[in-house]
Amino acid sequence: MLAKRVLSSISFLLPGSQSAQYRNPDFTKSQLPKQTITLACVDLGQLSAAGIKGIILDLDNTIVSEDDRYLSPGAEAWIQQAKQQGFRFFVLSNGKRQYRVDAWRQRLDVPILSPAKKPFPKSFRRALMQMELAPHQVVVIGDSRHTDVLGAWLVGCSCIQVTTLPHPPRWWEKLCGRLVQIPYPPEQELWDMNGQPARYPNH
Ligand SMILES: [Mg+2]
Repeated sequence: MLAKRVLSSISFLLPGSQSAQYRNPDFTKSQLPKQTITLACVDLGQLSAAGIKGIILDLDNTIVSEDDRYLSPGAEAWIQQAKQQGFRFFVLSNGKRQYRVDAWRQRLDVPILSPAKKPFPKSFRRALMQMELAPHQVVVIGDSRHTDVLGAWLVGCSCIQVTTLPHPPRWWEKLCGRLVQIPYPPEQELWDMNGQPARYPNH
């Protein structure tokens, strides 16, 4: 038992370990930030250092606003960079517009499951199985506490909550959206769908 724990704690030093070049034994998953502004603000070096090998992403209001007006600045480049570093991806979306999901599956070249019915664990477990990773090797990144954060917690993954991209609020978001989402900061850069700087909307 003790030998197993010692071996697992030094496994990052073994030849062939993907994370050997990044892994800092003093850095743990508990030190990962719980919240950040945008996807591109997530430090890939920190994820590697924490032993993360896979990323489950939310789509709506995390990568693109659900009305398709705004892109999260730098998100696509961040995803490509993460792929080049060996991270595995899976997108779980509660969205039901299949044409849109298909378009983003093609654009990002990552598997997407939709509707994922987050926070229920079934889709998270399917993503873990397809990525061939254990929960402790995966971080969930999304904008909503009641779907992404809760779902990650139910299956034992780490989670980083990003601010929610500006979008027309649903009726319940007008009432209690701030309990489950962090508003996108007005002073923060925002991109329209052509990847150009966009003015902050007035809604
Ligand atoms: Mg979302």
